[in-house]
Amino acid sequence: MLYVANIVENTIVDGTGFRTSLYLSGCDIRCEGCHNKNLWDISSGHAMEIDEVFEKITGSFTNITFIGGEPMMQAKTLALLAEKIKSNTRKNIWIYSGRTYEEILQNKEYLELLKLCDILVDGKFDKSLFKNNLRFIGSTNQRIIDIKKSLEKNNIVLWNDEEDL
Ligand code: SF4
Repeated sequence: MLYVANIVENTIVDGTGFRTSLYLSGCDIRCEGCHNKNLWDISSGHAMEIDEVFEKITGSFTNITFIGGEPMMQAKTLALLAEKIKSNTRKNIWIYSGRTYEEILQNKEYLELLKLCDILVDGKFDKSLFKNNLRFIGSTNQRIIDIKKSLEKNNIVLWNDEEDL
């Protein structure tokens, strides 16, 4: 089961183009100044079967974003959903995490999920680094990372806006 706080369709703020954002409940990171404190408790979300979530988020032309909350808290189950999306559609997947890329690489379950996604927006929200004109991030410490290129090069490769994934 996945614990889902919300599904937002046709959003343009959680990655490029029109996207369906899957808001996962549960966050163990607890950044000061978090705007989504209501999602910290995993049981605040609705328990949904993977197939049900898949049907709800893949029905239109939009790409997919996993956000929260902290999606890595449900990495094992979310990887099953990501696998299904990649096997059955041509959609790209952005994933947001309060954990850094380097921290994600240290955990087998997080890494399995990461490999199934295309773009990672990483790091805690730092309210001292908040700017309200940032695109797709909340504070300037957060990075938008091209996952496949980073894994290939064994080094962080930032997302290239011009490729418009
Ligand atoms: S990782 Fe996101 S949801 Fe969790 S505390 Fe930080 S800003 Fe809030």
